Amino acid sequence: MDPEWAAPPAVETCLVSSDASRGRRGGTLIDERVQTLSVHEAMMKDPASYRPTECRCGCRRLHLHDRRERRARSAGSVVVTVVVFLCAQCRASWRVLPAFLARCLWRTWEVVEAALSGGERPQAPARTVQRWQARLAQPARAATQALATSGDATLRAVAHRVGLEGTRGALAEAYAEATSGTSRLAPLAALLHRLSPGLRLM
Ligand SMILES: [Zn+2]
Repeated sequence: MDPEWAAPPAVETCLVSSDASRGRRGGTLIDERVQTLSVHEAMMKDPASYRPTECRCGCRRLHLHDRRERRARSAGSVVVTVVVFLCAQCRASWRVLPAFLARCLWRTWEVVEAALSGGERPQAPARTVQRWQARLAQPARAATQALATSGDATLRAVAHRVGLEGTRGALAEAYAEATSGTSRLAPLAALLHRLSPGLRLM
């Protein structure tokens, strides 16, 4: 059974609240440098290259602790090994995901974007794609606010252009345009997670 379908369809707290606001110690970090599987494979020759600079507690001693497998669905199924670091001071554990994996969507962003653009053979069930489309049609308030208060002029301009009532889709378009990004969703999703840990684009 698709674990996504087993989850309740509405609410989706993790779309609007952050890890910090849920009081979690440790969690998921996204490495924004890693936008493709080939970059990930090169990084994994030395998994320590994924080491975060510092823990949220301020400690800079993070030890390589574990490896986990992430399965991303597509026509076949891609298994990506991700690394987990442990903070020497507060014992928080940080799982570092490459940016091309869409956190919580069980796919790579490439597959998500291809499915959303209505290609001939979408690699996701129609119902899943409809749910993604519905999320992109929702107001992006928390995300827009995160950009507006980031302290970065380009991000603030994007936020003002979209406005508080703008949708997640509109925000993704505006961000990709402002940053000349090749991918519409992956870089913004990673950025939002960095600005407000746990905050999801979709
Ligand atoms: Zn720590």
